[in-house]
Amino acid sequence: MLQTKTEAGVILYRNLLRPLCIEVMIVQRVVLNSRPGKNGNPVAENFRVEEINLSDSINEGQVQVRTLYLSVDPYMVDPQLVDGHLSYFLGAIGMPGLTSLIGIQEKGHITAGSNQTMVVSGAAGACGSLAGQIGHLMGCSRVVGICGTQEKCLFLTSELGFDAAVNYKKGNVAEQLRELCPAGVDVYFDNVGGDISDTVISQMNRNSHIILCGQISQYNKDVPYPPPLPPAVEAIQKERNITRERFLVLNYKDKFESGILQLSQWFKEGKLKIRETVTNGLENMGAAFQSMMTGGNIGKQIVCISEETSV
Ligand code: NAP
Repeated sequence: MLQTKTEAGVILYRNLLRPLCIEVMIVQRVVLNSRPGKNGNPVAENFRVEEINLSDSINEGQVQVRTLYLSVDPYMVDPQLVDGHLSYFLGAIGMPGLTSLIGIQEKGHITAGSNQTMVVSGAAGACGSLAGQIGHLMGCSRVVGICGTQEKCLFLTSELGFDAAVNYKKGNVAEQLRELCPAGVDVYFDNVGGDISDTVISQMNRNSHIILCGQISQYNKDVPYPPPLPPAVEAIQKERNITRERFLVLNYKDKFESGILQLSQWFKEGKLKIRETVTNGLENMGAAFQSMMTGGNIGKQIVCISEETSV
């Protein structure tokens, strides 16, 4: 049995084990065990599972949910932060983290309140695989993905409808992009930053746009966010009047409902395809996170906690 509560919009993930008495439950939760530190790579041991007692009663505006699946995401370990400073998603060492989940609500109740070439980096991951398909749906005539394996390239072109894909670990990315985007790049959905982004930006057209979703290649480095572009690339950006706008999904809560409706509609119509990489067991959350950060996933990496859907 698993339990999750929402508290002022914050979801803590907890794995309900057994009733201790009428009012108290022993639950399992995943906490941040350590940070990778500056320039360190995240490892499974950055997380640990522990048991705590949790009140079984809930207050108004809270729900009790039995968790079925958890999400693991790049932001969960912010290596640049030291203890005592809160990351925007994760608390201090020893505190439970925030993630998204799918579960069964058991108690409580909440009222809810053209023709352009697009390049997507991190294209076979959760954000990138959707962004590229949406690019097509919104009218981009050509969508080219960049990702880390041949298998992922094939997934993008044969399953998701990308026009072409580049494996950035093989061959010359700049040359391949020039061939695949002969009219230059109009929209760049940037998930990765670093050398890949510098290469794409160098091939962008005048008045084009960078959508800065994430910079995963820079997360384990001691650099500010978003990382500044190298001077030569910044000069290209300015000279060609390329916009580079960072967004944070949580700033668009007012659009969640309509966004989910649109995505569901496209999914039902077969216009949007979704792939998940599933790891089983709460105890494997750290390993799933580490694998996702190093390219082990295709599509959204999730952790299956339970498949028991009866209430
Ligand atoms: P994801 O793409 O599903 O998984 C991460 C992928 O990044 C890996 O599978 C790996 O694939 C790639 N990667 C890892 N290290 C890399 C490197 N050094 N260079 C190039 N690619 C690398 O993760 P996601 O959840 O969709 O997140 C993607 C990006 O979006 C992240 O930067 C994340 O922080 C950001 N994000 C932003 C928001 C927002 O609100 N702006 C929300 C969620 C996520 P390969 O095999 O291709 O290397």
